Amino acid sequence: MKGIVIFIGPPGAGKGSLAHMCVKQLGWIQLSTGNLCRKHIIEQTKIGKEIDFAIKSGNLVSDALITSMVEEWLTQECDKQPVVILDGFPRTAEQAKLLNNLVEDRFKSLAIQIVTLNIPDSVLVDRLSSRIICQNKDCQAVYSLAEGSLLRPAQDMICDFCASALGRRKDDEYEAVKERLAVYRRHEHELLAFYTDNEQPVIQLNVAQPLTDVFKEFQCMIGLESI
Ligand code: AMP
Repeated sequence: MKGIVIFIGPPGAGKGSLAHMCVKQLGWIQLSTGNLCRKHIIEQTKIGKEIDFAIKSGNLVSDALITSMVEEWLTQECDKQPVVILDGFPRTAEQAKLLNNLVEDRFKSLAIQIVTLNIPDSVLVDRLSSRIICQNKDCQAVYSLAEGSLLRPAQDMICDFCASALGRRKDDEYEAVKERLAVYRRHEHELLAFYTDNEQPVIQLNVAQPLTDVFKEFQCMIGLESI
């Protein structure tokens, strides 16, 4: 398999956790546009200063800026592994259009596979209230403090991978979560309508189940494993 796999789903659906499993177990590479944005903010780059407010308040970064960040990353990374996961991009119909144009112009050999992660909002709010991430900007591994979760860190508030401290994302606070979910749902319809109109198939994945089952179902759906 070769190409770009796009994960579309609301905040808290587990795009990052599923992408992480694909990286570890299938050897793919991942771009999380959210992680990239947070990295810019921590490093206080020019882009970081520009997007800081949008991120903290749960709003979107402009289509043109986020697409140019994706283009730059693809240019540097896409030859390193056959499959690239885009986690959190595109989020609007305009971004989907810009990405299609970009692939057509510059990355023609990469076929696009779109996957939506489906889950009710009520489950998301619970998940986000127990989510913590690694504070190391180059790691940002995702954990959950929920009782019985497979994503609990082995040591209290310490990252399993890089031993950095874990903490909450500012935009996982209740008010920002509500805003992010509303923003996501506002754009979801036009984004999926864009792919339907363009006759690009979208795989539907149920993510209201344990991550290992999600991963198994995902592999089956894209033809990597039979259940
Ligand atoms: P995430 O980690 O995917 O929840 O993204 C965190 C924040 O980064 C979002 O709330 C946006 O402010 C910004 N962001 C990430 N991806 C995009 C995107 N594709 N378009 C616009 N803003 C984005």
